[in-house]
Amino acid sequence: QIINPGSRPQVTQQLSENVILTTVDDLYDWVKMSSLYPLMFGTACCFIEFSAMLASRFDLDRFGIFPRMTPRQADLLITAGTITMKYAPVLVRLYEQMPEPKYVIAMGACTITGGMFSADSPSAVRGVDKLIPVDVYLPGCPPRPEAIMDAIVKLRKKIANESMQERSHSSQTHRYYSCTHN
Ligand code: SF4
Repeated sequence: QIINPGSRPQVTQQLSENVILTTVDDLYDWVKMSSLYPLMFGTACCFIEFSAMLASRFDLDRFGIFPRMTPRQADLLITAGTITMKYAPVLVRLYEQMPEPKYVIAMGACTITGGMFSADSPSAVRGVDKLIPVDVYLPGCPPRPEAIMDAIVKLRKKIANESMQERSHSSQTHRYYSCTHN
């Protein structure tokens, strides 16, 4: 059959009725969103809620999520707690050690803005997105496990709509962790 532009809607309809078409991007997105491996990363009280979320009551396994103890095996970083200037280079190093594609959820007021330390603390980073790219912001002090799950659902929706090419350009770290840029 000769396909001309004028007949495309009809051809597309015929194909959709007879052939299951899956692009590489769709397959990639489905695999990524169905098997996220978060790094166990907590620096302050927000991590209490993060660890509660990993317990049986909230059943995180249903999302295909299994915590990892090393960045080499993780593709999701949930920054749970205050990020200090002294710890900033370590955080960036851990993020860079994670394989692509990788994602970040900024959990809690301290991580997102510096929180209660943002007014006068010389040591708190005023926003983890000054160091690494953030995919989902999860406000609260602290956010409950249900809110963390909501953030994960939002991340899964984001992954479902992204392409591999877009992702390869969005995981660059920002080397802003000197005091002068805080
Ligand atoms: Fe603690 Fe609240 Fe800061 Fe989380 S946002 S680390 S619960 S003070």
